[in-house]
Amino acid sequence: MTPYKDFHRQWIAGEWCEGHSGTSRANSDPYTDEVLVEIPQASLEDLDAAYRAAQAAQPEWEAKLPSERSAVLERLAGIVEARKDDIVDWLIHESGSTRRKATLEWGLVLGLIKYNIGTTYGLQGSLLPADIPGKEGRAYRKPVGVVGMISPWNWPLQLTARTLIPALALGNAVVVKPASDTPVTGGLLFAKLLEEAGLSKGLVSVVVGRGSEIGDAFVSHPIPRVMSFTGSTPVGRGIARQAADAEIIKHVDLELGGNGPFVVLGDADVDRAVDAAIFGKFLHQGQICMAINRIIVEDSLHDAFVERFVARAERLAVGDPRQEETIIGPIINDKQLDTLKRKIADAQAEGAHMQVGGEAQGRVLPPHVFTGVDQSMSLAREEIFGPIAPILRARDADDAIHMANDTEYGLSAALFTGDVERGVQLARRIEAGMVHVNDQPVNDLPNNPFGGEKNSGLGRFNGDWSVAAFTTDQWVSVQHQPRSYPTDEA
Ligand code: NAD
Repeated sequence: MTPYKDFHRQWIAGEWCEGHSGTSRANSDPYTDEVLVEIPQASLEDLDAAYRAAQAAQPEWEAKLPSERSAVLERLAGIVEARKDDIVDWLIHESGSTRRKATLEWGLVLGLIKYNIGTTYGLQGSLLPADIPGKEGRAYRKPVGVVGMISPWNWPLQLTARTLIPALALGNAVVVKPASDTPVTGGLLFAKLLEEAGLSKGLVSVVVGRGSEIGDAFVSHPIPRVMSFTGSTPVGRGIARQAADAEIIKHVDLELGGNGPFVVLGDADVDRAVDAAIFGKFLHQGQICMAINRIIVEDSLHDAFVERFVARAERLAVGDPRQEETIIGPIINDKQLDTLKRKIADAQAEGAHMQVGGEAQGRVLPPHVFTGVDQSMSLAREEIFGPIAPILRARDADDAIHMANDTEYGLSAALFTGDVERGVQLARRIEAGMVHVNDQPVNDLPNNPFGGEKNSGLGRFNGDWSVAAFTTDQWVSVQHQPRSYPTDEA
């Protein structure tokens, strides 16, 4: 099987074409600095062509039998499976994923596609009782039409797939705008896969362009009915405003930043909690929206937890993401790395105690662990998005839950305890869209609701929640017998 190449073009209306903005952007491997691809960026005209092609292609796709749409997804799953090495390599080179993270992401995407083969049957309506004699109520469910989606760089393949695959399964067309750091794994790679799977031309386009040039028009364009955005909270707020101010108002789904608490109660199994915390904090260098941002440990277990966690963090393999044993690879770009260095300096200046640290080698920042952190410090208040673990001490369970909720965010949380039912009761008090008892917060399953509360977003992905997000309901009523109206003549 020949690996895919030539990712320097846009995929618009089913054709590979040059971007017309007059500027281009080189993308390089964050570990080696090797230039992977240079892409002439899309112009406003390119974007408009993509949305128009999507609008033109969608009705025929919607009219297909569910089994016909499923067949495309079945072929896609087969291709994703067969091209595993190619996909994993692109994730390693373009997004700085370690081999383990890239393999995990590939597997999650394959699982997502397989799950959604059945979603093509999801356009189910209902018959509704009516309090008017002779009236029959019907609720029809139909695709929204065209979905616009914007994805981030950190988990690009899956976060694009999470909108693209169910939206397509349900009969929509999709226009994808990947992040500037991951144009291939966030979009163009899918274009190749879908082309090979035989998707009709124009149903999906991938538009690679600068946010400053096409960002506003991507959101405010009159054709897309839903804007599905995954990224940071400040950008998400701007998207919501633009969607509201657009010529034709549209729905927004916002999957935004997080400040995930990982609560360890005094009766927890400390070794299990440490294993979970190492994964939930350091996977992908901590550059995950659901990653642990604060480790909150009940006083009675605090010192034992810190001792074991520090010992594990010190032993983590750091360096070349291509090596199977590497757990911590490069940070995505220099700007993010500088932000993390600033956070480390701030933590020290604010009085936190650095238990594990070290200098960055290139863009590889070794794990950092801070104790003596409290809720007033910037490490506890800001989304970290890096391999820095602040540990906070809680007086008791109530104090821990209070601290967990003391944030503007509410995406994913986790809680460890020896008493599962008490854990569930406490989990229900955490203001987050997702709480995992006796696990860590990085979880995403294709049939479980994924999404945030507070400044972590609006809406839910996966399963029935994706069906709701990418469809709309139409009430059609039928009056079977003459109806008496209050305005009737006596
Ligand atoms: P970002 O907000 O900077 O960018 C996200 C996407 O928005 C990119 O494709 C970017 O090009 C685009 N964009 C930026 N400005 C735009 C504009 N004005 N108009 C239209 N598009 C614009 O986020 P990022 O740095 O790529 O990703 C990291 C952030 O994403 C973190 O805050 C993280 O928590 C969040 N995130 C959330 C989830 C989730 O499911 N909740 C998942 C992954 C990442």
